[in-house]
Amino acid sequence: MTAPQAHDSTARLLIVGPQGSGKGTQGVRIAESYGIPVVSTGDIFRANIKQGTPLGQQVTEILDRGDLVPDELTSEIVRDRLSQDDAVNGFLLDGYPRNTTQVAHLDAFLAEQGHALDAVILLDVPREESISRLTLRATEQGRTDDTPEAIAHRLDIYEQETAPIIDVYDERGIVDRVDGTGELDEITDRILAALAARGLRLAA
Ligand code: AMP
Repeated sequence: MTAPQAHDSTARLLIVGPQGSGKGTQGVRIAESYGIPVVSTGDIFRANIKQGTPLGQQVTEILDRGDLVPDELTSEIVRDRLSQDDAVNGFLLDGYPRNTTQVAHLDAFLAEQGHALDAVILLDVPREESISRLTLRATEQGRTDDTPEAIAHRLDIYEQETAPIIDVYDERGIVDRVDGTGELDEITDRILAALAARGLRLAA
């Protein structure tokens, strides 16, 4: 048996944007196009809560308040997930890293393997539009952290803790700012065009 070879069509991506920017929806579309898994920390936490695992019990109240799960715990979960076979050749991160400490954790993990993020997609959506999309999702999906207070709190955390990570990645020249308003297909096309311009080729 030969060791798995690195693929030409790999992409190590991060999608960032305020809650309600549509990054979940777009993330799935982009990941499908590249043939890579989506790694969403929010989805991992919600699945654990639903299944009543010890991790789920540990984070339920934190999610309901709209606060962040401790960095060490979150980073350990991501490290485990990115070590699985399907993520070895690429992945799309959604919801992690969420502050500069988590950026450092991710950098350390990727550097151990001689890797780095290829691109950071920043979905630009005005705050008012995020709030109205989140309020709509609250009625459609019944998420317990989509109360008006939790929504406002999560957007504040985004502006204070998550937005600064953009500066870090900007300095590395890997941020693609994409207008997140308009039709879903249009937004997907904008993202794929930005990634193609970086030379990130789609899966064969
Ligand atoms: P999301 O689905 O990305 O909006 O995440 C839902 C909730 O999960 C957040 O409000 C946090 O409580 C928690 N969470 C998700 N990702 C992270 C992260 N990277 N660090 C800390 N907490 C997180």
